[in-house]
Amino acid sequence: MSEIKIKAVAITEEEYNEYLELKEKATPKKVVKLKKSQYGYTHQCPSCERLVGTIVYNVNVRIISEIEHDNYCCSCGQALDWSDE
Ligand SMILES: [Zn+2]
Repeated sequence: MSEIKIKAVAITEEEYNEYLELKEKATPKKVVKLKKSQYGYTHQCPSCERLVGTIVYNVNVRIISEIEHDNYCCSCGQALDWSDE
């Protein structure tokens, strides 16, 4: 007769909160559009409010040619959703 063993692992509340936080960060959140662009940036992180996106500057014509959409906030690691753009 075979026996099934189920192992339960207890984690602390702190570990559980950390898990929730990681789960939250991995779920893409909509970037916040700025009312006015700042230093060429047009969006900010919904979690830490840092300006997000990578500015591609065209040296020849001296204008910002495009904003690259970063998948993650480089400051807090929040996954970013740019779907409305
Ligand atoms: Zn952030």
